[in-house]
Amino acid sequence: MDWLTNLIWHGGKFFGIDWGVWKVVGWLGNLIFFSRFIVQWHATEKKKRVVVPQAFWWLSLTGSLLLLAYSVRQRDSVFIFAYAFTWIPYTRNLIIHYRHKNAHTDCAGCGKKIPPQSNYCPNCGAKVEPSISSAGSL
Ligand SMILES: [Zn+2]
Repeated sequence: MDWLTNLIWHGGKFFGIDWGVWKVVGWLGNLIFFSRFIVQWHATEKKKRVVVPQAFWWLSLTGSLLLLAYSVRQRDSVFIFAYAFTWIPYTRNLIIHYRHKNAHTDCAGCGKKIPPQSNYCPNCGAKVEPSISSAGSL
């Protein structure tokens, strides 16, 4: 177990890294950004089809903004450019997600939520009457 201790506490430092506030910001960004893959993979395995859960976009947005802050602090043009614009699709996907969620209507038959533009309730099979509120665009 000496090798493990040496890996974790290398040269008198945690993982041999010179820790400071900005190093914590950068590594936190890395951890959050990486965790989105685990969240997406878990959701996909759980539903047995490819799924991108809302949490994936929040983790993408948070992680990339932390990494952008770190790269600006480090004045590293390569990583500044890599994270400068990624917030745009992440934010847009969150907006679309919330609009889609809010566009759900209640089924007159069973009372459960029905996705927008549905002709039949996926829960009870009742015919869904088209409404003005569910006809809006995303
Ligand atoms: Zn129903």
